[in-house]
Amino acid sequence: MSNPIRKIIIVGGGSAGWMTAAYLSRFLPKESFSITLIESTSIETIGVGEATIPPIHSFNAALGIDEATFLKETNATIKLGIEFTHWSQINSQYFHPFGTLGRATGKVPFHHYWIRSLINHNNTNLAQYSIETVAAYNHRFQHPSGQANSPLENFGYAYHFDAAMYARLLKQKALEQGVNHVQKTVRNIALKDSNGFIDKLIFDDGSELEGDLFIDCTGFAALLIEKTLHVGYEDWSEELLCNRAIAIPTDEQHPHPYTQAIAHPFGWQWRIPLQHRTGNGIVYSNQHISDDEAEHTLRKNLKGQPLKDPNYIRFTTGKRKEQWAKNCIAVGLSGGFLEPLESTSLHLTQLSITRILDFIPHGQITQPAITAFNSGMHKTYNEIKDFIILHYKLTQRDDSEFWRICKTMPISDTLKLKVELFQKTGNIIKDQEEFFRQTSWLAVMYGQGVTPENHHPMANGITEQDLFGLLNSTSEVIKQTVQHMPTHHALLQRIR
Ligand SMILES: Cc1cc2nc3c(=O)[nH]c(=O)nc-3n(C[C@H](O)[C@H](O)[C@H](O)COP(=O)(O)OP(=O)(O)OC[C@H]3O[C@@H](n4cnc5c(N)ncnc54)[C@H](O)[C@@H]3O)c2cc1C
Repeated sequence: MSNPIRKIIIVGGGSAGWMTAAYLSRFLPKESFSITLIESTSIETIGVGEATIPPIHSFNAALGIDEATFLKETNATIKLGIEFTHWSQINSQYFHPFGTLGRATGKVPFHHYWIRSLINHNNTNLAQYSIETVAAYNHRFQHPSGQANSPLENFGYAYHFDAAMYARLLKQKALEQGVNHVQKTVRNIALKDSNGFIDKLIFDDGSELEGDLFIDCTGFAALLIEKTLHVGYEDWSEELLCNRAIAIPTDEQHPHPYTQAIAHPFGWQWRIPLQHRTGNGIVYSNQHISDDEAEHTLRKNLKGQPLKDPNYIRFTTGKRKEQWAKNCIAVGLSGGFLEPLESTSLHLTQLSITRILDFIPHGQITQPAITAFNSGMHKTYNEIKDFIILHYKLTQRDDSEFWRICKTMPISDTLKLKVELFQKTGNIIKDQEEFFRQTSWLAVMYGQGVTPENHHPMANGITEQDLFGLLNSTSEVIKQTVQHMPTHHALLQRIR
């Protein structure tokens, strides 16, 4: 199979559509490809999606969007990680920071030295060795220095932002880069008799548009990939029980540089501080609570005044069996959805787009490209799924049926191995390409209550006194460095 690509049609003008349009139009040569984005004025975008993870930096940089413009145009704030409350047990709390833990210690990762002191001296305070965590709780921020051996060398951060404003910024970029913009609603889709490929879109005004490659960014509607090509859906609702969300923004404006994820007996609630408002929402299983009660819980836990009516969202956790089928690629929510606990949706969108660019510049749709793309996306979705499940599976809560199911449900062999290995040896295994770093796995596994029974034997290679010195000096340097950082507030003031 080999089919030429000349006309690329993106259907959908949410974040996924405009991210795709901006990225492809920046990198694909105009003389070889034309790009058109179709957007319905009568079908709304999902209207949520405000927290990100660090790879957003490389996406923005590739698009030539500098940070100051981005922060200003999207009312963004800094995100140094996520605070989890009531997840392991009621009244428990831990922080999942971006970045790395402690300092470089040669062959044995720093956390093994900490485990030695945890086992021998009950040193339970892991957070003091994470500069992002200490900065987050002190509401401070500084850009990574890149300087070797500095605690700021790899300072990890992402953003909270207004996704609609981001989409507008990308739209402007895409239009400047020559993307054609059509505001019409797709009513029908015609297939080619010869090979079942998508031939053309038929709009509600009766006009038509042909294309070679169609990118489905129609959100949960999945108009092309599912309603037309029927690729099928892998439903993961038995592993991740939540299937509803309600979002209500409030007027609260004291942004702290981290996301809050607060567990409830039937799901959890997010708090995402932006410059001009706070995004709030509750994610829950409607098998375990009614919509009314979920909304009531959310409202009870809001800190500011609501700015809008509640936005009710239904979802089925999972992913399309194929993200790329024939001449159609699903990007964004049309490809699948995992609840926003670790803010990974826009990252998945970003990955799809950058991977598309690996395969289509040849100007041909080939079966090996489709197979490689699908297997890469399948792997990434599964890795993220495992990481999200980790938060539920390791709970010690049994105050509700919801948590009891989470605690006892079967998990993948990969996840089981990771947890058991950490528990027995303190080792954390991850693939080279896997996004979540050792620090992330460590923070969540320990935060959820897994205490390692052992550490790497090489961490015994220093005396008790040197161990004490290593840990003490590391936390002291972090404390001092954070004290000298500008405040997050100062950064936002400067932008404004
Ligand atoms: C509760 C919740 C919380 C989330 N939180 C986060 C988060 O914190 N971080 C994160 O990274 N992600 C998050 N996400 C995911 C994020 O919202 C999405 O990844 C992102 O908004 C992209 O959505 P989309 O563009 O795929 O779909 P949508 O925003 O739904 O856009 C779909 C587009 O398709 C168009 N369309 C549909 N049908 C037609 C048609 N027939 N003809 C023409 N156009 C059509 C619509 O007009 C619209 O423009 C969250 C999602 C949910 C549900």
